[in-house]
Amino acid sequence: MRYQGSCHCGRIAFEVEGELAQVMDCNCSICTRMGSLHWFVPRDRLRLSTPEDQLATYAFGKQRIQHRFCPVCGIHPYGEGVDPAGNRMAAVNARCLEGVDLQSLDVRPVDGRSF
Ligand SMILES: [Zn+2]
Repeated sequence: MRYQGSCHCGRIAFEVEGELAQVMDCNCSICTRMGSLHWFVPRDRLRLSTPEDQLATYAFGKQRIQHRFCPVCGIHPYGEGVDPAGNRMAAVNARCLEGVDLQSLDVRPVDGRSF
């Protein structure tokens, strides 16, 4: 299935292809504050329809994850990084996708605080 996603103001828009069933609710220092529900997909399944340089990037700690956010409205549509096998991955914020019934998702708690 193909999903459309965006930030709040529309400066950032994208499409993601995949089966959305399970999302991660992470308790690390940034996810607790953001409240994202992460849907992990290979990075090449996510296609930006707005220029990539319209995104701002935040990284902290070991700099392993690039948190992409909109510098205008402040919404965080996805983060990206590399998995242990070296594959580029994206963690799409399911809350930024259109037409998704968030209550129907299988939300798995992740103890990111201890990573
Ligand atoms: Zn925005």
